[in-house]
Amino acid sequence: MAINIKRPNGTEDVLPKDVHKWYTVEKIARDTAESFGFNEIRIPTFENTDLFLRSVGETTDVVQKEMYTVMAKETKFTLRPEGTAGTIRAMLQNGLLNEAMPQRVFYILSCFRHERPQAGRLREFHQFGLEMAGSASPCADAEVILLAKTILDRLGLKNIELYINSIGCPECRAKYHEALRAYFEQSKDELCETCQSRLVKNPMRILDCKSPVCGKIAESAPLILDYLCEECSEHFEKLKGYLTNFGIDYKINPKIVRGLDYYTKTVFEFVTTEIGAQGTVCGGGRYDGLIEQLGGQHVPALGFAMGIERLLITMEKQNAEFMTPKTCDIYFAPMGEAALSKAMLLAKELRDYGYRAEYDMIGRGIKAQMKYANKIEASFTMVLGDNELSEGLAKLKEMETGEEFEIKLDDKFVDNFDSIYIDKMLNSLDDAADALMTEPHGKEN
Ligand code: ATP
Ligand code: MG
Repeated sequence: MAINIKRPNGTEDVLPKDVHKWYTVEKIARDTAESFGFNEIRIPTFENTDLFLRSVGETTDVVQKEMYTVMAKETKFTLRPEGTAGTIRAMLQNGLLNEAMPQRVFYILSCFRHERPQAGRLREFHQFGLEMAGSASPCADAEVILLAKTILDRLGLKNIELYINSIGCPECRAKYHEALRAYFEQSKDELCETCQSRLVKNPMRILDCKSPVCGKIAESAPLILDYLCEECSEHFEKLKGYLTNFGIDYKINPKIVRGLDYYTKTVFEFVTTEIGAQGTVCGGGRYDGLIEQLGGQHVPALGFAMGIERLLITMEKQNAEFMTPKTCDIYFAPMGEAALSKAMLLAKELRDYGYRAEYDMIGRGIKAQMKYANKIEASFTMVLGDNELSEGLAKLKEMETGEEFEIKLDDKFVDNFDSIYIDKMLNSLDDAADALMTEPHGKEN
């Protein structure tokens, strides 16, 4: 029988030629979060299944259909389907919530959901997310939304709409649930099986059902915004004011309920229409009850998560700029054993200095070596043979211009290479500046 060692459906490989795109997103997200006072947290890939049942909610799609759960030596574990539950668990377990508030953490991690794989919907995907605990004020909601928007802007994304909604607190929710039950009761028999049971346990979840029939019925369902209590209403109004103050455009979408049960009050999504149906690049909101639900004190909190794959698809679609991948600074082409030993040492010295240095490790002829140096886009090459070794002098060739520099193979080698390298950098900066000066204005429009 043939063995299947192919990548599982709904997973992806990131190849070396593309990894700089991931670095770009990760660096911009990290730097932005840090500038807002957030620090990174790292948590386990799997948790006790109960954690997700408790937090994400038993009637959600994630828990009912999408979790990867294993029974290992009598304990049930689940691969994390999202980052909030594990992060809050870690904050509680490590006493972070007893320290100075607000506590702010961010994470970059993989998530696992058994969904039908399609563009922008994977079974293993990656999130950049963050959580802020300790503030009940709507200014914290505005801060977190500004942070998400700043990241999207710095990534160069365009045409992203921000949708906000409030799904109230347990108090408004109770009245809303009654109204929803009364509404859906009329078409009970047409609802999918899952939603029929949701009707009793958690009717708001019907609004998030992906079945077209349930979606159609939900179209004219009562809206949560009509059921908000005074406090939730005021919170929402204040948030809108703060967003306006930041100059952030938003639309109110009273239909957003989010796919996870722990949300209260503010929920929001950043959506693009440019990458097909899976256009939500960021989703988040407030979850004032979650920490208590997981055994902590009552600590109001909020956060968001961005789907990194969806960000990348959008960036590529919009021709956004990525950080340039690092290429080889210098490639040594040795001929003979003595030259190889020298090349090995020179490369080692340069690397200690921070340069990317390589040499032939395959024993190729000089022509094949130079072809390889071109292929890896080496900035400089240096041929080393018996002559160079005996004279202690070699030629450093700048590949782009063909210009050659004589350089001594003595203990000043690294310093000399460094100054030639810096000259080259300055020259190419000058060229870039000249090119900018001569370009017609308004080119980018
Ligand atoms: P959707 O409605 O698209 O299923 P969701 O409400 O399930 O999203 P969240 O749990 O809020 O998503 O996750 C936050 C973000 O993670 C989403 O906005 C999206 O960008 C990304 N995401 C969620 N599920 C997937 C997936 N299966 N594949 C790729 N990215 C995903
Ligand atoms: Mg989903």
